[in-house]
Amino acid sequence: MAEYEWMKQVHDMVGRKTGAAYAWDRINEAMIRQWCEVMGVDNPLYTDPEYARQSEYGAIVAPPAMLQAWCLAGFRDEFPEGTSQDNPFEALTIMEAHGYPSVVAVNSEMTFDRYVRVGERLYYTTMFDSVSEEKTTGLGTGFFVTVIMYFYSQSEAGEDEKVGELLFRVFKFKAPEQAGSSDKAGQDSSEDSQQTIKRTPPGISDDTRFFWDGLKEGKLLIQHCKSCDKLQHPPGPVCSNCQSFDLDSVESTGKGSLYSFVVMHYPEVPPFEYPNPIGLVELDEGTRIIAGLVECDHIEIGQPLELVINTFDGDLTLPQFRPANS
Ligand code: ZN
Repeated sequence: MAEYEWMKQVHDMVGRKTGAAYAWDRINEAMIRQWCEVMGVDNPLYTDPEYARQSEYGAIVAPPAMLQAWCLAGFRDEFPEGTSQDNPFEALTIMEAHGYPSVVAVNSEMTFDRYVRVGERLYYTTMFDSVSEEKTTGLGTGFFVTVIMYFYSQSEAGEDEKVGELLFRVFKFKAPEQAGSSDKAGQDSSEDSQQTIKRTPPGISDDTRFFWDGLKEGKLLIQHCKSCDKLQHPPGPVCSNCQSFDLDSVESTGKGSLYSFVVMHYPEVPPFEYPNPIGLVELDEGTRIIAGLVECDHIEIGQPLELVINTFDGDLTLPQFRPANS
């Protein structure tokens, strides 16, 4: 079962608990109000003291989904004094040292035992719950690692009370290019499988079909509201400015400039080439579009760009942008 000698060390960690990480602040109304505002939650149980007073809870309670937020490390990635120095993710460090550098979160399950109230102070402990055998997925080869965080309310007198828990699972892996030596006989080599993997086609609805049909005819069409004259992208069923359904489209000249961008390096997912630059392009017509950047030696915010329409996998037509030859 243990595929590698070094994995014994990881398996030995299963079931190990690390010490408490404390919340910076007691449960308080200001953080609750701000969280609700940002998340668009308008339940008066969380924000209206008078309503909450008359509820079965008798006072404001915190939204259950805030549980983890109370115990975050903060902007400087530091916890308050008294927090354990144990590293709950030590197993990941060991995997990294043995050639599995990438990580992606795969699932998270939160369980609430009860509402927490203003004035309570929380902390959590972490248990290294499990590690899978080595698996190969579309992303690469590696291990599924699960930790569980247990959240408690500190008690002044009696025993601390558990108020919820959070299961968190990640995939710790190496990308196909690096898999080499551990490839099992009979499997496709990573090069072969890259050639057969296609780009994921877009989900096309009645609201977006004109855009994709336009590209096939060599046109970049931008949705236009006939009521208020605004342009919007991506297209939708209704004008986001005036809520009118009276929409048509205009053809973009394909000229614009780079408003912002990212360059994807990791994880390397076929069939894309890496590094993979993706731009947020400000079209001269005044709306923005996200698209791949091609033929770029140098990328700079503000640089003039022009549209190129490229077809992939036979019938997938996509807008991309390259530096404009001015
Ligand atoms: Zn409108």
